[in-house]
Amino acid sequence: MKKARPQTKVNAPPSALCEPRLVPLSCPDCFGVLRFEREGPREHLIYQCQVDHRYTSASLLHAKEAQLERTLWSAALLLTQMMYAYQDHLGELKKTKDDKQPHVRRRINEVRKQCLAIRTMIEATHAVE
Ligand SMILES: [Zn+2]
Repeated sequence: MKKARPQTKVNAPPSALCEPRLVPLSCPDCFGVLRFEREGPREHLIYQCQVDHRYTSASLLHAKEAQLERTLWSAALLLTQMMYAYQDHLGELKKTKDDKQPHVRRRINEVRKQCLAIRTMIEATHAVE
């Protein structure tokens, strides 16, 4: 993951300093609050969190895309595990002829469809490199 190099502003005149501003984004590494400021002669946008993880706009997007993919795979895994657990539960209900079986079958179908939808979302994503 590319991170912006730290820059010192010790020699910058006060008028060249831009006040850091909070943004409604969390740090992909630690989930801390991000703020942004502009640095350098080209005034590049730099995001920085409370523990000094630093990102350019491109590296922040790259990190957020990776975070999104991990989160979606995590949800797909949870739904897959729920499907197995519901199938086991359904097997138990069949032994006692419990009348909740149709509800459990409906939920198994929902979970299967939700898992497929998430996998489709992951496969349909074309993040900018
Ligand atoms: Zn951070």
